[in-house]
Amino acid sequence: MRFALTILGVNAATPAFGRFPTSQVLQVHNQFFLIDCGEGAQMRMGDFNIPRHKIRQVFISHLHGDHVFGLPGLLFSFDLNGRQDPLDIFSPPGLQEMILAQLRPGGTLSYPIRFHEIDTTFPTLVFENKAITVESIPLKHGIPTVGYIFREKPRPLNIRSEKIAEHQLSVPQIKAAKAGEDVLLLNGELIENQALTFPPTPLRSYAFLTDTVCDEAVLPHILGVSMLYHDTTFCDDFHENAALTMHSTARQAAVLADKAKVGRLITGHYSARYKDLSIFLEESLPIFPNTVLGQEGVTYLV
Ligand SMILES: [Zn+2]
Ligand SMILES: [Zn+2]
Repeated sequence: MRFALTILGVNAATPAFGRFPTSQVLQVHNQFFLIDCGEGAQMRMGDFNIPRHKIRQVFISHLHGDHVFGLPGLLFSFDLNGRQDPLDIFSPPGLQEMILAQLRPGGTLSYPIRFHEIDTTFPTLVFENKAITVESIPLKHGIPTVGYIFREKPRPLNIRSEKIAEHQLSVPQIKAAKAGEDVLLLNGELIENQALTFPPTPLRSYAFLTDTVCDEAVLPHILGVSMLYHDTTFCDDFHENAALTMHSTARQAAVLADKAKVGRLITGHYSARYKDLSIFLEESLPIFPNTVLGQEGVTYLV
């Protein structure tokens, strides 16, 4: 089953060199989760064939414009398309007021928006369904900001299809085997669970941490995640700016990824000072070899 991240916008603050402000879509099986919504996000959805009508949940990290100014346009387009499905928007406090002030003069929308304000001071389970959980964690930035961690929920064991026919297994017996039990056949033979099943694929997870200073307080939360997208607004050459603006450098993110033993680090939220992004990899790869340059239009399979 698919667990994939598509980056729509990978820049900090302003559009530059063809790069857009922050926005991403995480696909988990047949669900599409929008993470931040910088200016131009819906145009990027068109460019990269994202089925925007399938977005039911939006997760906003904080209220700086480069993370939310794409929302009014997207919400308006949903209305023009006659959307009826409710939309859940999770964010630090203040977003509802900000967005509704722009939408209200245009009349009522064709669909309900449910705003969920997140307490940014402690980790919270903000959303879950059958497939995943989404947890928010506090980040350190100039205004209240959270990161999000998406985790697949544990799945039952897989049943070996040939064994169903071989032992004429009933539906309750299949359910029991998937739950890890041995199965007693009608003829009295006990079949051990291992002979009937094989393990599910390892659970995948994705952590989105921007904008933030690099902070080891997040380590327990991101330990061992499959993929981490971390603020790398600057490189060493502007490390003072990183501290001043409460962002991180590629080196700092790589050190954190190494300590957290994540599967893969994706860089992003690049300052408009950088045209050539290769410096981000040059700085992070020697520290954390599983670093990938975050780029728009690229889909990263988790
Ligand atoms: Zn930003
Ligand atoms: Zn910010």
